[in-house]
Amino acid sequence: MLPPCLWMHKRSGAVVDPDGRIVVLLVEDEASYVDALSIGLVGEGFVVAAASTIAEARTQFAAVRPDIVLLDVMLPDGSGVDYCRELRSSSNTPVIMVTARSEEVDVILGLEFGASDYVTKPYRLRELIARIRAVLRRSTSEPSTDIITSIGDIRIDTSRRSVMRNGEELELSRKEFDLLALFASRLGQVVTRDECLDEIWWGRDLTDTRTLDTHVKRLRQKIEVDPGNPAHLVTIRGVGFRLDP
Ligand code: CA
Repeated sequence: MLPPCLWMHKRSGAVVDPDGRIVVLLVEDEASYVDALSIGLVGEGFVVAAASTIAEARTQFAAVRPDIVLLDVMLPDGSGVDYCRELRSSSNTPVIMVTARSEEVDVILGLEFGASDYVTKPYRLRELIARIRAVLRRSTSEPSTDIITSIGDIRIDTSRRSVMRNGEELELSRKEFDLLALFASRLGQVVTRDECLDEIWWGRDLTDTRTLDTHVKRLRQKIEVDPGNPAHLVTIRGVGFRLDP
Protein backbone atom coordinates (compact mmCIF):
# COMPACT_ATOMS: atom_id res chain seq x y z
CA MET A 1 0.00 0.00 0.00
CA LEU A 2 1.01 3.58 -0.53
CA PRO A 3 2.05 5.70 2.40
CA PRO A 4 -0.91 8.02 3.17
CA CYS A 5 1.05 11.13 2.18
CA LEU A 6 1.08 9.95 -1.43
CA TRP A 7 -2.68 9.61 -1.61
CA MET A 8 -3.51 13.03 -2.92
CA HIS A 9 -6.83 13.59 -4.54
CA LYS A 10 -8.36 16.36 -6.51
CA ARG A 11 -11.66 17.52 -5.06
CA SER A 12 -14.34 15.38 -6.55
CA GLY A 13 -15.78 17.17 -9.54
CA ALA A 14 -12.88 19.60 -9.94
CA VAL A 15 -11.62 19.58 -13.51
CA VAL A 16 -8.27 21.24 -12.84
CA ASP A 17 -5.95 20.63 -9.92
CA PRO A 18 -5.83 23.83 -7.82
CA ASP A 19 -2.07 23.98 -8.27
CA GLY A 20 -2.24 23.04 -11.93
CA ARG A 21 -0.47 19.75 -11.31
CA ILE A 22 -0.96 16.76 -13.55
CA VAL A 23 -3.00 14.00 -11.96
CA VAL A 24 -1.89 10.47 -12.84
CA LEU A 25 -4.11 7.49 -12.12
CA LEU A 26 -1.79 4.53 -11.66
CA VAL A 27 -3.59 1.21 -12.16
CA GLU A 28 -1.08 -1.44 -11.11
CA ASP A 29 -1.23 -4.48 -8.83
CA GLU A 30 2.51 -4.99 -8.28
CA ALA A 31 3.31 -3.20 -5.04
CA SER A 32 6.97 -2.67 -5.92
CA TYR A 33 6.01 -0.75 -9.07
CA VAL A 34 3.32 1.23 -7.26
CA ASP A 35 5.73 2.33 -4.54
CA ALA A 36 8.63 3.23 -6.81
CA LEU A 37 6.46 4.97 -9.38
CA SER A 38 4.42 6.92 -6.86
CA ILE A 39 7.51 8.25 -5.13
CA GLY A 40 9.14 9.06 -8.48
CA LEU A 41 6.09 10.76 -9.97
CA VAL A 42 5.28 12.76 -6.82
CA GLY A 43 8.93 13.82 -6.74
CA GLU A 44 8.48 15.18 -10.26
CA GLY A 45 5.45 17.23 -9.18
CA PHE A 46 2.68 14.91 -10.35
CA VAL A 47 -0.31 14.06 -8.22
CA VAL A 48 -0.73 10.29 -8.01
CA ALA A 49 -3.84 8.28 -7.30
CA ALA A 50 -3.39 4.52 -7.27
CA ALA A 51 -5.65 1.55 -7.88
CA SER A 52 -4.67 -2.11 -7.80
CA THR A 53 -7.78 -3.47 -9.51
CA ILE A 54 -10.11 -2.40 -12.30
CA ALA A 55 -12.91 -1.98 -9.76
CA GLU A 56 -10.74 0.43 -7.75
CA ALA A 57 -9.71 2.18 -10.94
CA ARG A 58 -13.35 2.91 -11.80
CA THR A 59 -13.90 4.46 -8.37
CA GLN A 60 -10.68 6.46 -8.51
CA PHE A 61 -11.25 7.64 -12.06
CA ALA A 62 -14.64 9.09 -11.07
CA ALA A 63 -13.21 10.62 -7.88
CA VAL A 64 -10.00 12.25 -9.12
CA ARG A 65 -10.66 12.80 -12.85
CA PRO A 66 -7.06 12.10 -13.84
CA ASP A 67 -5.23 13.85 -16.67
CA ILE A 68 -3.67 10.57 -17.72
CA VAL A 69 -4.01 6.88 -16.81
CA LEU A 70 -1.09 4.44 -16.53
CA LEU A 71 -2.75 1.09 -17.03
CA ASP A 72 -1.20 -2.30 -16.36
CA VAL A 73 -2.39 -5.00 -18.77
CA MET A 74 -2.64 -7.93 -16.31
CA LEU A 75 -4.83 -6.98 -13.35
CA PRO A 76 -6.36 -9.28 -10.72
CA ASP A 77 -9.95 -8.67 -11.82
CA GLY A 78 -9.49 -8.45 -15.57
CA SER A 79 -7.58 -7.11 -18.53
CA GLY A 80 -6.30 -3.56 -18.74
CA VAL A 81 -7.10 -3.70 -22.45
CA ASP A 82 -10.78 -4.20 -21.66
CA TYR A 83 -10.71 -1.39 -19.13
CA CYS A 84 -9.00 0.85 -21.70
CA ARG A 85 -11.83 0.12 -24.13
CA GLU A 86 -14.35 0.90 -21.40
CA LEU A 87 -12.62 4.21 -20.62
CA ARG A 88 -12.51 5.13 -24.30
CA SER A 89 -16.27 4.78 -24.62
CA SER A 90 -16.84 7.60 -22.14
CA SER A 91 -13.69 9.74 -21.98
CA ASN A 92 -10.78 11.18 -23.95
CA THR A 93 -8.31 10.90 -21.07
CA PRO A 94 -5.05 9.56 -22.51
CA VAL A 95 -4.06 6.05 -21.47
CA ILE A 96 -0.53 4.61 -21.44
CA MET A 97 -0.58 0.82 -21.28
CA VAL A 98 2.07 -0.84 -19.12
CA THR A 99 2.99 -4.32 -20.17
CA ALA A 100 5.40 -7.18 -19.76
CA ARG A 101 7.08 -8.23 -23.01
CA SER A 102 5.03 -11.40 -23.37
CA GLU A 103 1.84 -9.35 -23.48
CA GLU A 104 2.73 -7.62 -26.74
CA VAL A 105 -0.33 -8.95 -28.58
CA ASP A 106 -2.65 -7.54 -25.93
CA VAL A 107 -0.89 -4.22 -26.19
CA ILE A 108 -1.45 -3.92 -29.89
CA LEU A 109 -5.13 -4.55 -29.24
CA GLY A 110 -4.94 -1.88 -26.54
CA LEU A 111 -3.60 0.67 -29.00
CA GLU A 112 -6.31 -0.23 -31.48
CA PHE A 113 -8.83 0.35 -28.73
CA GLY A 114 -7.60 3.80 -27.98
CA ALA A 115 -4.51 3.70 -25.79
CA SER A 116 -2.16 6.57 -26.58
CA ASP A 117 1.04 4.64 -26.05
CA TYR A 118 2.63 1.83 -24.10
CA VAL A 119 5.70 1.11 -22.03
CA THR A 120 7.24 -2.28 -21.39
CA LYS A 121 8.40 -3.46 -17.97
CA PRO A 122 11.02 -2.94 -16.77
CA TYR A 123 11.22 0.71 -17.71
CA ARG A 124 13.14 3.66 -16.36
CA LEU A 125 11.24 6.41 -14.55
CA ARG A 126 12.83 9.04 -16.78
CA GLU A 127 11.55 7.28 -19.89
CA LEU A 128 8.06 6.97 -18.46
CA ILE A 129 7.92 10.64 -17.49
CA ALA A 130 9.10 11.70 -20.96
CA ARG A 131 6.37 9.46 -22.38
CA ILE A 132 3.67 10.95 -20.10
CA ARG A 133 4.69 14.49 -21.08
CA ALA A 134 4.76 13.60 -24.79
CA VAL A 135 1.31 12.00 -24.65
CA LEU A 136 -0.13 14.98 -22.75
CA ARG A 137 1.39 17.42 -25.24
CA ARG A 138 -0.12 15.46 -28.11
CA SER A 139 -3.50 15.16 -26.43
CA THR A 140 -3.74 18.89 -25.78
CA SER A 141 -2.71 19.75 -29.34
CA GLU A 142 -5.17 17.27 -30.83
CA PRO A 143 -8.73 18.58 -30.44
CA SER A 144 -10.46 15.28 -31.18
CA THR A 145 -9.74 11.57 -31.25
CA ASP A 146 -10.15 11.37 -35.02
CA ILE A 147 -7.23 13.24 -36.57
CA ILE A 148 -6.57 13.17 -40.27
CA THR A 149 -3.81 15.26 -41.77
CA SER A 150 -3.41 15.63 -45.52
CA ILE A 151 0.04 16.20 -46.98
CA GLY A 152 -0.04 16.26 -50.75
CA ASP A 153 -1.70 12.98 -51.69
CA ILE A 154 -0.85 11.41 -48.30
CA ARG A 155 -3.46 11.06 -45.58
CA ILE A 156 -2.29 10.43 -42.02
CA ASP A 157 -4.95 9.11 -39.65
CA THR A 158 -3.51 9.11 -36.12
CA SER A 159 -6.60 7.52 -34.58
CA ARG A 160 -6.19 4.45 -36.83
CA ARG A 161 -2.40 4.76 -37.02
CA SER A 162 -2.63 4.50 -40.78
CA VAL A 163 -1.03 6.38 -43.65
CA MET A 164 -2.70 6.23 -47.05
CA ARG A 165 -1.64 7.38 -50.50
CA ASN A 166 -4.47 7.55 -53.01
CA GLY A 167 -6.44 5.08 -50.91
CA GLU A 168 -3.53 2.64 -50.61
CA GLU A 169 -2.07 1.93 -47.20
CA LEU A 170 1.66 2.64 -46.73
CA GLU A 171 3.63 0.31 -44.46
CA LEU A 172 5.41 2.25 -41.74
CA SER A 173 7.25 0.88 -38.72
CA ARG A 174 6.02 1.98 -35.31
CA LYS A 175 8.80 4.55 -34.90
CA GLU A 176 8.35 5.82 -38.44
CA PHE A 177 4.66 6.34 -37.78
CA ASP A 178 5.27 8.03 -34.41
CA LEU A 179 7.79 10.36 -36.02
CA LEU A 180 5.45 11.22 -38.90
CA ALA A 181 2.57 11.79 -36.45
CA LEU A 182 4.81 14.11 -34.42
CA PHE A 183 5.65 16.14 -37.52
CA ALA A 184 1.99 16.14 -38.59
CA SER A 185 0.89 17.43 -35.16
CA ARG A 186 3.11 20.48 -35.81
CA LEU A 187 2.39 20.90 -39.50
CA GLY A 188 4.36 23.77 -41.04
CA GLN A 189 6.40 24.24 -37.85
CA VAL A 190 9.95 23.19 -37.11
CA VAL A 191 10.36 20.18 -34.82
CA THR A 192 13.86 20.18 -33.36
CA ARG A 193 16.09 17.11 -33.34
CA ASP A 194 15.99 17.11 -29.52
CA GLU A 195 12.18 17.10 -29.57
CA CYS A 196 12.21 14.13 -31.94
CA LEU A 197 14.60 12.23 -29.69
CA ASP A 198 12.66 13.14 -26.52
CA GLU A 199 9.27 12.22 -27.89
CA ILE A 200 10.02 9.21 -30.06
CA TRP A 201 13.06 7.74 -28.35
CA TRP A 202 11.96 8.90 -24.87
CA GLY A 203 14.98 11.10 -24.36
CA ARG A 204 17.19 8.03 -24.49
CA ASP A 205 20.76 9.05 -25.07
CA LEU A 206 21.38 7.76 -28.54
CA THR A 207 25.03 7.06 -29.00
CA ASP A 208 24.29 7.37 -32.69
CA THR A 209 21.84 10.17 -33.48
CA ARG A 210 21.97 8.98 -37.09
CA THR A 211 19.11 6.71 -36.00
CA LEU A 212 16.87 9.76 -36.35
CA ASP A 213 18.27 10.60 -39.78
CA THR A 214 17.79 6.99 -40.87
CA HIS A 215 14.13 7.13 -39.89
CA VAL A 216 13.61 10.46 -41.66
CA LYS A 217 15.26 9.01 -44.76
CA ARG A 218 12.99 5.96 -44.71
CA LEU A 219 9.93 8.16 -44.19
CA ARG A 220 10.90 10.22 -47.23
CA GLN A 221 11.26 7.08 -49.31
CA LYS A 222 7.69 6.21 -48.36
CA ILE A 223 5.90 9.56 -48.53
CA GLU A 224 7.88 11.69 -50.99
CA VAL A 225 7.58 11.49 -54.77
CA ASP A 226 11.26 12.45 -55.04
CA PRO A 227 12.89 11.39 -51.73
CA GLY A 228 16.21 13.03 -52.64
CA ASN A 229 14.47 16.36 -53.12
CA PRO A 230 11.68 16.32 -50.53
CA ALA A 231 8.66 18.52 -51.10
CA HIS A 232 7.04 17.92 -47.69
CA LEU A 233 9.47 16.59 -45.09
CA VAL A 234 12.24 19.15 -45.23
CA THR A 235 15.44 19.41 -43.19
CA ILE A 236 16.12 22.64 -41.36
CA ARG A 237 19.87 22.40 -41.21
CA GLY A 238 21.31 22.34 -37.70
CA VAL A 239 17.84 22.58 -36.12
CA GLY A 240 15.48 19.82 -37.12
CA PHE A 241 12.69 19.05 -39.57
CA ARG A 242 9.47 20.57 -40.84
CA LEU A 243 6.51 18.84 -42.46
CA ASP A 244 4.78 21.04 -45.03
CA PRO A 245 1.28 20.36 -46.36
CA1 CA B 1 -0.10 -6.82 -13.27
